Amino acid sequence: MSRKPFIAGNWKMNKTISEGIALVDELKGLIGDVSNVDVAVCPTFVSVAKVGDAIKGSNIMLGGQDTFWQESGAWTRQIAPSMLKDAGCQWVIVGHSETRGRFGTVDAELESVLSYFGECDTTVNMKAKAAFAAGLTPIIACGELLAEREAGNTDKVIVSQMKADLAGFTKDQALKMVIAYEPVWAIGTGKVCDSDEADRVCGVIRNVVKEMYGDDVADAVRIQYGGSVKPSNAAELLSKPNIDGALVGGAALKASDFAAIIKAA
Ligand code: PEP
Repeated sequence: MSRKPFIAGNWKMNKTISEGIALVDELKGLIGDVSNVDVAVCPTFVSVAKVGDAIKGSNIMLGGQDTFWQESGAWTRQIAPSMLKDAGCQWVIVGHSETRGRFGTVDAELESVLSYFGECDTTVNMKAKAAFAAGLTPIIACGELLAEREAGNTDKVIVSQMKADLAGFTKDQALKMVIAYEPVWAIGTGKVCDSDEADRVCGVIRNVVKEMYGDDVADAVRIQYGGSVKPSNAAELLSKPNIDGALVGGAALKASDFAAIIKAA
């Protein structure tokens, strides 16, 4: 089955409202003719609605960078999935390594007790279900730490994350979900995962989906690679059979680089 490539840009804590609008305005000019690739940008919560207005009528979709699993109430700092939907989002990233607290220089041992945002597989799963309930589609991120890779535990970590993160979806939800394989050591570091290895791990993920939801879902589900994707390595990564797109951080902040990655797909 052929899967439509999906390139999503995670702006993280970058771009003011006016900078975000300028970025998508430039991007619209560069990719206006692209229809065979799905494209989304995920701005900060404060700029998501305005950027959403700026991309109306274009081929660029909108996503949130995270969500909470509750719909309303006394949850200071949190954003409900329905609020993202109301602001124009179709997508939301859940389980990014920067919300799992699995990044930077904090070592693996400490990290296991120091999760900056209290994120774990259970909350990732709850967020994904809440996103579906609000009419959003989650981009569910997973990935191993460098220490886990070096210990030969990559597949074990990924399988365990996926089984927990993807548990209990309806078949329809599983058909829609997007998974992002993001080796933590490759995020924002300039160290890209070897394309054959990235493809292999995406294959491991597809097998978990197959075990959980069957062949048709495994064939249909889109799996992105994320981790230092750039115009110079995008074509190679995206040519691999199990890689159906990219979740892009740094290179999504420059319209010409992001457009080049989209065109590589
Ligand atoms: C990301 O944050 O999801 C990411 C992949 O970042 P970068 O492209 O900067 O490595």
